Amino acid sequence: MPTKPQKPVPPNVTLDLGEPYCGACGHRLTGLVDSSRCPECGRPIVEVVTRAGKLGRRYRSETTLFGLPLIDVAIGATHSETRGSARGIFAIGDKAKGFVAIGNSALGIVAVGGRAFGVFALGGIAFGLVSSCGGISVGAIAVGGLVLGLLGFGGLCAAIVADGGVCIGFYVAGALPIAIGQGSPSDAFGMFSWFFGRTSPFSVWRYLLQPWAVVFALPITATLAIALLAGARRKSARRNAPAP
Ligand SMILES: [Zn+2]
Repeated sequence: MPTKPQKPVPPNVTLDLGEPYCGACGHRLTGLVDSSRCPECGRPIVEVVTRAGKLGRRYRSETTLFGLPLIDVAIGATHSETRGSARGIFAIGDKAKGFVAIGNSALGIVAVGGRAFGVFALGGIAFGLVSSCGGISVGAIAVGGLVLGLLGFGGLCAAIVADGGVCIGFYVAGALPIAIGQGSPSDAFGMFSWFFGRTSPFSVWRYLLQPWAVVFALPITATLAIALLAGARRKSARRNAPAP
């Protein structure tokens, strides 16, 4: 498999790949600087040097759908990569791209991770076209600490309809509402009670938890839908395969 040229490792990053040893005879090669051959078996070090340390994980399923592996896992460094890039229907990796992507940096229909970009995003920093949930959360339906959205619920929330702590928007509620314009809040919160749940102010579930439930339920539902679709595709591909 041709590998892309790797970016050089920055000087402040140390890769713990473990002690080097001879892959042919097992002789430890740590500290060996004056020889190009293994002192034990004499084979060239460039051919046999192996490290057994904290190598990352790589797994790619043989099943492919839509030209992508069904499952691709790439976490951590290997001998040839400083970090893992996963690409698949279900992708898990330092960098992950897929229908469902989980990773430090994730891009997908459902994206979960430190930085998550997707249709439905969950993450430290989350950008979701439809829904987002995260420390910094930007999306049509957004929940989190610092929120920017159309419908927003969070600590510091700027949205058309905003609820939570400090709220800036056209229709605002929350601890410190700052209204832009003259909207009547009750109309908007009534219309979007499936999200805000404000219609019953005495129920904690509806008042505080419902927005969170919505932004978690959407990606979970999408993940299940993708899993079902993948399963159905796989079945039909098997059925149509020519008999051996
Ligand atoms: Zn050796």
